[in-house]
Amino acid sequence: MSQRKPIVHLVGAGPGDPELLTVKAIRAIRSASVLLVDDLVGDGVLRYARKSARIVHVGKRGGCASTPQAFIEKLMAAEALKGERVVRLKGGDPFVFGRGGEEAQHLRALGIDVEVVNGITSGLAAATSLGVPLTHREHAHGVMFVTGHARHDDAALHWPTLAAAAAQGITLVIYMGIATIESLQRGLLQGLAADTPVAVVQHASLPQQRHVQCVLRDLVTTVSREQIGSPAIIVVGDVLRAADCLGLHLPKALAA
Ligand code: SAH
Repeated sequence: MSQRKPIVHLVGAGPGDPELLTVKAIRAIRSASVLLVDDLVGDGVLRYARKSARIVHVGKRGGCASTPQAFIEKLMAAEALKGERVVRLKGGDPFVFGRGGEEAQHLRALGIDVEVVNGITSGLAAATSLGVPLTHREHAHGVMFVTGHARHDDAALHWPTLAAAAAQGITLVIYMGIATIESLQRGLLQGLAADTPVAVVQHASLPQQRHVQCVLRDLVTTVSREQIGSPAIIVVGDVLRAADCLGLHLPKALAA
């Protein structure tokens, strides 16, 4: 049994493309004896795991309920206390939504050290894949990462406030927005022009990436017509106009 102080590495696996992993993330994955892996972690990322590593998938697949959070936290702690080298692999960045903060708090409360390794969050990857400079200074002076999945049912307050910010030149990057897209559109229209540009990117950075671009008033109909589902990022704001004029060369799969 190891004499090391127990530690869990909370590692950002990035948006899916293994080439977007950080060097630190690769090193952590290579050294892990136990990996607890979220659903949104791209399969290609696991190629760096040791053959002998125990890989536990703790995300939801095919609409099944996620492994309960309490179980994940218990398992991480138990393995770390046994002296295993535990890596908790989370999609994107561990501290951008996705409950990484709660996991770190839980582990620290048990006296287990936590090391956090940043990952490229899907909101950034989604925007960049479309050639959208999120803070292009002719169009925006800031960016907000927000969730469409409010913990309490306060979405009715959430969207008009965010619309007001967006109207002042803050680009909105919305995670988990597909399930609540009707109330999102309704709420944003209370403070934003109906012709505000919007883009939705599904499976950002992966070969199956798809996207749509439209104006706010057509968001719900476009997403349903094109059958864009989760996981997806919704970008709202005038910076989307800058993407059109930059003439960036999108990867072939995205250009259609
Ligand atoms: N920690 C993650 C976010 C977890 S919340 C990160 O930093 O990216 C889960 C949400 O992230 C999904 O509902 C979706 O909105 C977004 N997401 C994660 N991976 C994605 C991807 N490859 N493409 C588009 N959206 C993604």
